[in-house]
Amino acid sequence: MTVERTLAIIKPDAIAKGVAGQIVTRIEEAGFKILAAKLIHMSPEDAAGFYIVHKALPFYRSLCAFMTQGPCLPMVLEGDHAIQRWRELMGATDPAKAAPGTIRKAFAASIEANVVHGSDSPTSAAFEISYFFSSLELCPRSNRGD
Ligand code: GDP
Repeated sequence: MTVERTLAIIKPDAIAKGVAGQIVTRIEEAGFKILAAKLIHMSPEDAAGFYIVHKALPFYRSLCAFMTQGPCLPMVLEGDHAIQRWRELMGATDPAKAAPGTIRKAFAASIEANVVHGSDSPTSAAFEISYFFSSLELCPRSNRGD
């Protein structure tokens, strides 16, 4: 058993389409523990900082604009091998290539508007969790390591 934490985001397109609840249900049914969650509307600076590793990519500006078009729901998920398992539940970046039963296959409209985000490594999970949440916001208290 390798308990990990990962940063998930229900992206603005999913909130706008009204499928956030269905995505949260899939997360819970897969056995993840939700340690923290909050609805926020990112500024351009917030999105640019979050996706700083993608700064050189051609879709960086478009991605940042997409992520600021409305509120999104960052969450901290915990569970056995949570980083990899959450990425498997999300499905491939491009919904046309996502496996049946995945969240992106069910709800995503395009390679950009793909409804969910998930950390891709322990290093990025640590950066991304602390980008949105302080240790005081991770519940219950016994999970904070204090
Ligand atoms: P992820 O880890 O599956 O989310 O994929 P990446 O880290 O490669 O990309 C981050 C996000 O950028 C994706 O979730 C998409 O929202 C967006 N994205 C990825 N590839 C493309 C692309 O080719 N074009 C555009 N417009 N957006 C993309």
